[in-house]
Amino acid sequence: MGTVVDAANKGVNGSLPNEKKFKVVFVLGGPGSGKGTQCANIVEHFGFTHLSAGDLLRAEIKSGSENGTMIQNMIKEGKIVPSEVTVKLLQRAMQESDNDKFLIDGFPRNEENRAAFENVTGIVPEFVLFFDCSEEEMEKRLLSRNQGRDDDNIETIKKRFNVFVESSLPVIEYYGSKGKVQKIDACKPVEEVFAAVKAIFTQVHEKEVVG
Ligand code: UDP
Ligand code: MG
Repeated sequence: MGTVVDAANKGVNGSLPNEKKFKVVFVLGGPGSGKGTQCANIVEHFGFTHLSAGDLLRAEIKSGSENGTMIQNMIKEGKIVPSEVTVKLLQRAMQESDNDKFLIDGFPRNEENRAAFENVTGIVPEFVLFFDCSEEEMEKRLLSRNQGRDDDNIETIKKRFNVFVESSLPVIEYYGSKGKVQKIDACKPVEEVFAAVKAIFTQVHEKEVVG
């Protein structure tokens, strides 16, 4: 439930005039690199709210929204949904949350996503957590996870890998050039990867406390 003050802070158009209010970490990595799994762990230990762009898009399909069919077709093809749609969903989810710390998982997927998010929300991410994993390992995970997703088939997986290399890696490189990328070897077992993730969040938190 938002208070009157919250409502005022959000502005008449639902925009975020006070963008500094939100702390955002982008969680990026190829399909099957473990973003969702590790985000659940981070939420538990560090009090963030997890926003998976893919989950928000899938919920939008289920809700019977007018964009539903378009989103469904793009996901089936491994294509990137127009920024306008995804940014709106993310922005709404942040506004509706009582938290001010968000893990945004699986977004931005291309330069256009990145620019649209920064322009619309005014938010610059604290840092980017990059799960680095081989396609061989990611393919194995995707084909064995059985989440009933119609994009976890070998044909769509290949397309998603291509989109990741062509469109998403440049975003990671962009943030790398700004010194904002924390890269993790994500090919290891879940517990080992989380140990590395934990070290990063602990270090960042300590820096904040010390100032
Ligand atoms: N997707 C998108 N924009 C986003 C996030 C996801 O267009 O910001 C679409 C895209 O088609 C992608 C699919 O949703 O292939 C699944 O994304 P998700 O992040 O759920 O899958 P993951 O890459 O984590 O396996
Ligand atoms: Mg995911």
